Amino acid sequence: MTVSSQASPAIAAAEPLLGQSLAQLTDWVTQQGQPAYRGKQLHQWIYEKGARRLEDITVFSKAWRAEIAHVPIGRSTVHFRSEAPDGTVKYLLRLTDGHLIEAVGIPTAKRLTVCVSSQVGCPMACDFCATGKGGFLRNLATHEIVDQVLTVQEDFGERVSNIVFMGMGEPLLNLEAVVGAIRSLNQDVGIGQRAITLSTVGIPGHIRRLAEHHLQVTLAVSLHASNQALRERLIPSARRYPLADLIDECYEYVNITGRRVTFEYILLAELNDLPKHAAELAAQVGGFQSHVNLIPYNPISEVDYQRPSDRRVQGFVDELKRRHVAVSVRYSRGLEKDAACGQLRAQRLEEPVIAPA
Ligand code: SAH
Repeated sequence: MTVSSQASPAIAAAEPLLGQSLAQLTDWVTQQGQPAYRGKQLHQWIYEKGARRLEDITVFSKAWRAEIAHVPIGRSTVHFRSEAPDGTVKYLLRLTDGHLIEAVGIPTAKRLTVCVSSQVGCPMACDFCATGKGGFLRNLATHEIVDQVLTVQEDFGERVSNIVFMGMGEPLLNLEAVVGAIRSLNQDVGIGQRAITLSTVGIPGHIRRLAEHHLQVTLAVSLHASNQALRERLIPSARRYPLADLIDECYEYVNITGRRVTFEYILLAELNDLPKHAAELAAQVGGFQSHVNLIPYNPISEVDYQRPSDRRVQGFVDELKRRHVAVSVRYSRGLEKDAACGQLRAQRLEEPVIAPA
């Protein structure tokens, strides 16, 4: 196969190879004086055979392997693994600079979903979120997102079918790397775009920017409140992003992509789970293609919000249904152990973010 070197940007010296397309890998091998078919082999070894070092790629000559041994593939190592009785597996992954991130593998009868992180920590500081309590360190690179999916796939010995960007971090604050990862997960790992969900708390102008990439991914918006005052109380960044503007951008997303939007709504007892909140919520999201996912609050130790009883959850569902809102309830899997996002990392570390080598 021939690939024009203008078609894709060249890979810079010692840049990790994971996350790069077949065309980019092919360019890279030909720059090394190798035949183009080596690009396809490299692609297969990285994405299908799980090669962690170029030295391990035995179809390459020993001499060439020695020459390129310093180029990283860009894989993390599993620092800690915790399996819940329902089969959900949480991983604490150690990045090459020592930072730790969480990824979760969630098996069901027909699916294997991976919950991926997009940042080390998170700057949004939502009041109910364990990750938000730990502060923000840095964005993840494309290869560090793709790596999480390969790691879970290899550990389960089963193909990943779905991906949710619901781990640590705010993906729209790291849009370029996230869009790069979606492209790679789709084209290199073979996961359908429609099986990928990006969850965001909403950053002004960024939902529009995502829509302009014309991806077929599902957008999930963490709404969590039915009015502006309540939302500001839970989500500090909401002060700079009026609910009306957020909903307008969601409309645009639907218009540009033709995809319906999911609204996520954490249920906090007495705070946002009353019938009047259901009525307000129905008024906010009614009238366009959307779906509401109710998430009964997953307790974290830093704050004392309460999870509503199942009866109250059902009452909220009924109020929404009466108003013709498409609604489902999503219980967090693996609740038995450190289930809330960011909790595993917080509990495993005395010094919150850097792991010893
Ligand atoms: N920053 C993005 C993605 C990460 S959080 C976002 O905010 O959407 C993924 C989802 O988990 C969000 O809907 C978030 O609000 C929710 N979440 C965080 N902490 C939670 C908790 N303690 N209980 C239930 N859901 C929680």
